Amino acid sequence: MLKADNTAYSILAQDFDLLVDEPLKKYTSFKIGGPADLLALPKDKHELKNLLKKASNLDIPVTLFGGGTNLLITDKGIRGLVVITRLLKSKIRIIKTDLDGKTIGVEAGERLSNVCRFAINHSLSGLEFAAGIPGTIGGAIIMNAGTKSGEISNIVDSIEILNKKTLAFETIEKKELDFSYRRLNLTGIIVAATLTLKKESLEKIEKSFNHNLSQKNATQPVAFASAGCFFKNPVEGRPAGELIEKAGLKGVRINDAMVSQSHANFIVNIDNATCDDILLLKQHIQKSVFDKYHIKLKTEVRMEGE
Ligand SMILES: Cc1cc2nc3c(=O)[nH]c(=O)nc-3n(C[C@H](O)[C@H](O)[C@H](O)COP(=O)(O)OP(=O)(O)OC[C@H]3O[C@@H](n4cnc5c(N)ncnc54)[C@H](O)[C@@H]3O)c2cc1C
Repeated sequence: MLKADNTAYSILAQDFDLLVDEPLKKYTSFKIGGPADLLALPKDKHELKNLLKKASNLDIPVTLFGGGTNLLITDKGIRGLVVITRLLKSKIRIIKTDLDGKTIGVEAGERLSNVCRFAINHSLSGLEFAAGIPGTIGGAIIMNAGTKSGEISNIVDSIEILNKKTLAFETIEKKELDFSYRRLNLTGIIVAATLTLKKESLEKIEKSFNHNLSQKNATQPVAFASAGCFFKNPVEGRPAGELIEKAGLKGVRINDAMVSQSHANFIVNIDNATCDDILLLKQHIQKSVFDKYHIKLKTEVRMEGE
């Protein structure tokens, strides 16, 4: 049922397929999050644009989700409209071939794992670092997803965005993109991207991809609900996971929120953790690490909601 007193919601619901009071724990890898007042899964960029235009005219706030694998949503959930990009996809295609390799075109809702598979199938190198990273390509670009062996900014050639103010589609070339560690400085919504990949022997690509994947599976709690590494690594010195582990925090638990036993920079949801449990544990970790090392850990996971 739509909130009876909210006329704006009712008007938006006349023109679009919307889910009402939809639990967001269904859309996050953490399996945490209260309801979204309204939730939409637009099927292409034009529907996305129309939805944003109407929501903006009605003064309804919009929150964007890709695969929901880097998000912590509050227990009260999100007011306004949540837009999930995962249906924004069509065939991944080769758009340019040159001596060194190929440029591929992909839409924002495509799963990163499918893009990796496409690259392997075409003997294209550049995405081996992304083995096992969940989520969409749009989310990966905004987060500048990466590991020790690479990050997505190395292969992004251009992005197509929906400008939130003008509601026009624009193409931004690599040289204009302001990437930094786990971040792209951008306010628009990515609807598509082109990636430049290099020709390489299939054997070499598969070896590197499989090595990275087995490393990830061996060292990270992939079977538990989480949002990946919770904290950013400090700019200098030891990685966040090492600081947390040396502070004696592996296995520390608040209700169903726990510091992973296998990788201390993962907070896992053992079963029924709430956002509040995660936040209490986060504060405990930050305080313990600060008391021991005088380092303030900053979160990599993004929090949304009331
Ligand atoms: C088990 C596990 C392992 C992980 N390992 C890694 C790792 O090795 N390296 C790493 O970097 N990350 C890792 N992550 C974190 C996460 O998978 C990445 O950050 C991923 O790229 C996020 O993509 P997403 O589509 O899920 O984004 P979401 O979590 O849905 O969104 C993240 C942010 O991006 C914004 N966003 C999403 N799509 C768009 C778009 N199209 N346009 C504009 N903004 C958008 C959202 O609003 C939000 O602010 C891991 C997570 C898990 C659960």
